[in-house]
Amino acid sequence: MSLLRHDLYIEPIKAFIDPRFPVERALITHAHGDHARGGHGSVLATPETIGIMKLRYGAESAKSWQEIEYGKPLKIGDVTVTYYPAGHILGSAQILLEIKHQRIVVSGDYKRFPDAMIAAFEPVPCDIFVTEATFGLPVFQHPDPMLEIAKLIKSMERFPEQSHLVAAYALGKAQRVIGLARQAGYDKPIYMHGSLVNMCAYYQSRGIDLGDLRKATGLAKDELKGALVIAPPSAMKEVWSRRLTDPIHAMASGWMTVKQRVRQRGIELPLVISDHADWNELTQTIKDTGAGEIWVTHGREDALVYWCEQNGLKAAPLHLQGRDDEEDES
Ligand SMILES: [Zn+2]
Ligand SMILES: [Zn+2]
Repeated sequence: MSLLRHDLYIEPIKAFIDPRFPVERALITHAHGDHARGGHGSVLATPETIGIMKLRYGAESAKSWQEIEYGKPLKIGDVTVTYYPAGHILGSAQILLEIKHQRIVVSGDYKRFPDAMIAAFEPVPCDIFVTEATFGLPVFQHPDPMLEIAKLIKSMERFPEQSHLVAAYALGKAQRVIGLARQAGYDKPIYMHGSLVNMCAYYQSRGIDLGDLRKATGLAKDELKGALVIAPPSAMKEVWSRRLTDPIHAMASGWMTVKQRVRQRGIELPLVISDHADWNELTQTIKDTGAGEIWVTHGREDALVYWCEQNGLKAAPLHLQGRDDEEDES
C-alpha cells in the first residue's frame, strides 16, 4: 500500500486531497472552486478555508467539518497530517503527510512573493513534493505587484474624470488588489460589484483591513466618476459596467503577461498580479523542499517535469482532471 496515489488518494486513511467528486473524507488545501467542492462526508481544512466553503456552498455542503490550524500535527490512523501556509489566498495550505520514514507534501496552489494579508509560504522538507505548475514555463516571470498597482494609481491620477474598472476574481484576487491599493496609499472608497461584498466582508472579519468598501450597484452614474471599481471578470460585460462613465478597463491576473489574453478581453490596463508561483518561484521551491521526487499537476506539467529531470530529480506529471486555469483565480 502506498501512502499517496497519483490521484491524491491517501490509501491508509481512505481520504482524498482536493477531490473533484463527493467522497467520504476530504482534505482540502484551499477554497478555490477547482480544489474545494460541496457534497463531501467530512472535510478537514483550515478555519478560513472552512469559513469560505460555508460562505460559498452553505454550512450543509459537508456532513462534518474539522478545523486544523497551521503547524499543528493531527494523527489519523498511522498517518500524521500537518497543514502549512501556502501563501496563495486566505486559509490556503500545503498538506504534509507522514508515515514511518516517508514525508509527502501536497502544496495545492502557492506563491512565494510576500503578501502582507496572509500567512507566508513555508518550505517543508519532504521526500515527495507535489507542486502546481500554473505558470510552469520559463517565460513566466511575475513583476513586483507594487509596481503593477502603481500603474493603476498613476492612471487614476492622470484620468481623474474616468472610472477605473478592474477585473479580479472574487476569492483572493479582488481582496489582494484592494489590499495592494491601500498599501500604496490609496485611501478613497473602493467600489465593488455586488458579488464581491460577502467575500470582502469575510476577509475583514478575519482581521484583514481593506479600508472603506462600498457597493457599486445601484449608484447614480455621477457617483462613480473617477472611482476605482472592482468586479469579477464574468461581470465586466454586464449592463451596470456600461453605466460607468467611459471606464478604463483593467484586469489583475498572472495571465496579463500574455498579450493575446489582454487583447481578447479588451483590457487597456493589464496588471500582472498573480497568486501563483512563477517559473523561478516554482524551481526555487522545489530546491528548497529538498525532495528527490516531484509530482507536477495543475497547468504546464511538461516543462517543469523536464527541468526536474535535468536537475537529477525523479518527476511525474499527474494529469488530474478538471484543474483548468480559466476557472482558477490566477
Ligand atoms: Zn487556487
Ligand atoms: Zn488551483
